[in-house]
Amino acid sequence: MSETSGAGRLRGEPSGGPGAVLIATSEFDVTTSTVVVGAGGGCLLIDPGVTVPELAGLAAELAGRGLRPRVAWSTHPHWDHVLWHRELGDVPRYAAPAAVAIADRDREAILGEARRSAPGHEAALIGRLAALDAGAIPWDGPAAQLIIHDGHAPGHGAVFLPGSGTLIAGDMCSDIEIPLLDTLGADPVGDYRLALTRLSALREVRRVIPGHGHAGDAAEFRRRLAADGAYLDALERGKPFSDPRITKDWLRAAHERQLRLARAGG
Ligand SMILES: [Zn+2]
Repeated sequence: MSETSGAGRLRGEPSGGPGAVLIATSEFDVTTSTVVVGAGGGCLLIDPGVTVPELAGLAAELAGRGLRPRVAWSTHPHWDHVLWHRELGDVPRYAAPAAVAIADRDREAILGEARRSAPGHEAALIGRLAALDAGAIPWDGPAAQLIIHDGHAPGHGAVFLPGSGTLIAGDMCSDIEIPLLDTLGADPVGDYRLALTRLSALREVRRVIPGHGHAGDAAEFRRRLAADGAYLDALERGKPFSDPRITKDWLRAAHERQLRLARAGG
């Protein structure tokens, strides 16, 4: 499959000029790194990952295209979304305040998971995020609105680019993962529903890019929102059910855990 052979390579608008959105897909869990091209060769880098060679390759490819990261955004404080590489440069790496608090609190666990699943990262660069309490990412490129919620993790921040109608959804709206709740939250299903409601309210989404999985068009975005809502409905009924996205052992385990949690809460 092209995804495997081209792991880590940037894809997107051939022009790659200002306003272009490029995606690199990792061989680890089909994780996406998104590049939003700004003016003068600057770019916004969202969730760069995952392996060290992939990040080094991303840095080299950006340089080859005459692009350099100007600012970065981590959608949420899970290890595979807070990575970095020295060659990407020393730029502000923002996340929502609640996400930064978790990244700091869980630092040892995040470092441990990165070591296990993507060894070789420079520990000092992992999870070094600055809290940004704002409605948009401050930079001179295309407007990048933030939709902050607690659906999958505290302070989860999706990025919406109104100019191109692109939603970089973080770990939501996936075609290959079920909704994964923040099971430590006070109201995991409620938080997730609120997040879906807020994403649904974005009327101009023409393309959705999930943190894991494949980009989809407007119809696919609506289909995924509906599928995720239906998943939560079934979860709250508390009876065993399945979902076509449960294709791996870890997803099956997460699903069973969520079902137990829903039963306990209901
Ligand atoms: Zn996550």
